[in-house]
Amino acid sequence: MEETLKILVVDDDEVDRMAVRRALTKAGVQMDLSEVEEGGDAFFALSTTTYDCVFLDYRLPDQDGLTLIQQIRSSEIKVPLVVLTGQGDERIAVELMKAGATDYLSKSRISSEVLAHVLRNAIRIYRAEMQVAFANQQLRESHEQLIYKNKELERQQQHIQVQNFKLLEASRLKSHFLATMSHELRTPMNAIIGFSQILLRPKFGQLTHQQADMVERILNNGKHLLMLLNEVLDFSKLEAGRLDLKPEIFDISKVVDAAVEEMHSVGEAKNLSLLLQTDLQNPLGFNDPMRVKQILINLLSNAIKFTESGEIWVEVKELPANKVGIIVRDTGIGIAPRDFKQIFEAFRQVDQSITRKYPGTGLGLAIVDSLVKMMGGKIFLESQLGVGSMFRIELPRQVTLSTVAIEAGNLHLDNDRVFYSGQNSHQSSASVGKASIVSPKFKL
Ligand code: ADP
Repeated sequence: MEETLKILVVDDDEVDRMAVRRALTKAGVQMDLSEVEEGGDAFFALSTTTYDCVFLDYRLPDQDGLTLIQQIRSSEIKVPLVVLTGQGDERIAVELMKAGATDYLSKSRISSEVLAHVLRNAIRIYRAEMQVAFANQQLRESHEQLIYKNKELERQQQHIQVQNFKLLEASRLKSHFLATMSHELRTPMNAIIGFSQILLRPKFGQLTHQQADMVERILNNGKHLLMLLNEVLDFSKLEAGRLDLKPEIFDISKVVDAAVEEMHSVGEAKNLSLLLQTDLQNPLGFNDPMRVKQILINLLSNAIKFTESGEIWVEVKELPANKVGIIVRDTGIGIAPRDFKQIFEAFRQVDQSITRKYPGTGLGLAIVDSLVKMMGGKIFLESQLGVGSMFRIELPRQVTLSTVAIEAGNLHLDNDRVFYSGQNSHQSSASVGKASIVSPKFKL
């Protein structure tokens, strides 16, 4: 069913109004038609009622059609306006259209077909225009929204940049604080260790059994504290890229022997035997012996710390491609595969609680990981909860330091690790940064 159109006819001539009405009725237009004679009445009607179309006589008693159209359009009244012109008025048609008329029609051409056609065209054009205007409005709104969102994003980006800068600064200050404090604390610590060692020497007077026991405790705790301080200092140096390897030609088996020997008494205190098997045809290597020993001491002290009964095995063997493999295996509590990755990160421990059973800074493996990387080596982890763990290190016999140094923050590199427990392992193999240390002149 065709919709009923609300139509307004503005004409002071009753015969002309009737002609419009008849023509539209004849054309079968369903309509609700109102009529007014003057421009003022037309404006009032349009301000208070919504029409689908207006037929407007160009010549009205109180004003001309052009002025009325301008008035209607400047009041933002949206309606299709068809101007009915008399003889000779056609020349102002262009101006009418410019002012906002939808169409115009000479009164001499009014017929039911023409009028119905003009009416439908005017409504169609008007609705299309409204749709375009609506789409444009929506476009404008989305454009404005985009501009707003862009500004908001820019603001957030700036905020993040500021926060990043603050974080970097805080991290730098923290590293500086760690480095300074651990360095400063080492001096009095060395004095405590030195003087307790002196006190224990018989030539400085005989101590009672109880006194000797107490001084020994001071000495052992002092040594432990110094070890912790050294860990923190090493870590802050690694973070700041200020830890250098001092490579030299050295006997690998002797360094491994020394590390095992050093940890022997610690193992013994827990009734754990440390078993060493060295199988090197060529024991020489070019690396920093102190740092190789440090890696072993760290792995051994972990193995002892996390093992309640059983044995700790250390194995050193030749590997293809002029590499050396060092393995530290224990029968301890083991590590769950989900923790493989994170335990190599600084300050990460499987048990992070304050009341945890095993003490430590959580820096040991992070330092080991970084040192192994500096040396161009790889570290693998195999472990099973309740069965034990195996840390396997592959080091080049001769470090090539032209490509190796530590840059700030690389303690967190972990993109290239492989893990398996039974079948899971950890492998870390990045070589990072740069340094320039000359290679040895010997053939290794
Ligand atoms: P720390 O020993 O000071 O806690 P590490 O960085 O050396 O820090 O080790 C991180 C964590 O990895 C330890 O807290 C422990 O949870 C786990 N871990 C390291 N070695 C072993 C091991 N041999 N057996 C079981 N867990 C280990």
